[in-house]
Amino acid sequence: MDFDIKKIRSDFPILSHTVYGKPLIYFDNAATTQKPECVINIISEFYKNYNSNVHRGVHLLSAKCTEANENARKTIQKFINANSSKEIIFTHGTTDSINLIATSFGDKFINKDDEIIVSELEHHSNIVPWQLLCERKQAKIKVLPFNEKGELIVDKLKNLISKKTKLITLNQVSNSLGTINPIKKIIEIAHSNNIPVMIDGAQAIQHQKVDVKKLDCDFYVFSGHKIYAPTGTGVLYGKEKWLEQMPPYQGGGDMIDVVTFKKTTYNELPFKFEAGTPNYIGNIALGKALDYVSSIGISNIAKHEKELLEYGTQKLSEIENLIIYGNAKNKTSVISFLINGIHPYDTGMVLDKLGVAVRTGNHCTQPVMDHYKIPGTVRASFAFYNTIEEIDVLYEGLLKVVKMFN
Ligand code: PLP
Repeated sequence: MDFDIKKIRSDFPILSHTVYGKPLIYFDNAATTQKPECVINIISEFYKNYNSNVHRGVHLLSAKCTEANENARKTIQKFINANSSKEIIFTHGTTDSINLIATSFGDKFINKDDEIIVSELEHHSNIVPWQLLCERKQAKIKVLPFNEKGELIVDKLKNLISKKTKLITLNQVSNSLGTINPIKKIIEIAHSNNIPVMIDGAQAIQHQKVDVKKLDCDFYVFSGHKIYAPTGTGVLYGKEKWLEQMPPYQGGGDMIDVVTFKKTTYNELPFKFEAGTPNYIGNIALGKALDYVSSIGISNIAKHEKELLEYGTQKLSEIENLIIYGNAKNKTSVISFLINGIHPYDTGMVLDKLGVAVRTGNHCTQPVMDHYKIPGTVRASFAFYNTIEEIDVLYEGLLKVVKMFN
């Protein structure tokens, strides 16, 4: 398909809105993405016509929702090239997926004095669940650092790995700097030491082709809402060999086989990890969002976003005293910056009044901010529906900010 930006923008109802009488320019895509009409429509279509709880009913509506929910699972399996739909667990998002792994894998495989390696570039969601686990198990976290450009120092990994290392967990793309991490290389190093790897794909899946088989990662997690699907949806991919060995995370309906007061047995994969009524209409909409992304073409998306990143980086670099944090060679369409002497919140507030939505703060990556000794940044994150003209408005807005505060 041709990359028709006008048509693409018309697929997203919110993009034609105005704020404070100005056209909305949405540059907060790393926090959450906007939703195309087809995703919004499928939610109302299912609630209007087919809504009924999945897996339990013999009637037509339940069968329809069950089938659509399982078809969405197959769509996800295909999208990330997993071996089997048994390896696709529906969750509420990246955070939920990581907590599931930290609890279930952690209970089974992490013991006293064991070590888990995380990167310094992680979102709090890929730090805190491991800290909670390490507190419970008296295990230890080791940190793989990054350099001034925001690139992981992979050479240091070999020194961090020991006989006690039981897991390496890191993101594919940093949410606050946009760095694309060399996860294939890290996975190879880990596997040559018999260590499994969990990849947080929250900021990667929407920007580049993800093939879990090629990557050979043991776990891969992401959130639906960052890839044009509804909030409250998410995915945990896990190799079957791990998922089979891991105990259930939560108990309840659907995850059981037989329940007696004497002993309960558990359902097979993937249902063993899906206790309670799932967000089935959300899951169905996630499948729709992935179909939509596939129809645009992930390589077309990557190409357009690369142009936005290059143009944005060049324009913003023209502004005196503006410092970009995160200058990795491989980056997604994220620009984190500060203008010397101007608080990020002030910059964000002025841009907001001009219709430009950016995020300010530490972006749930306090260790990254601590590394640079700054409290936070302004972050403009672009999606494939953004344009060069919108970046020009950001640039003009920043010139106004400089004028106002100097
Ligand atoms: N990991 C990364 C890299 C993220 O960017 C985010 C959200 O910004 C998360 C984890 C947490 O995602 P969620 O809040 O959807 O669970």
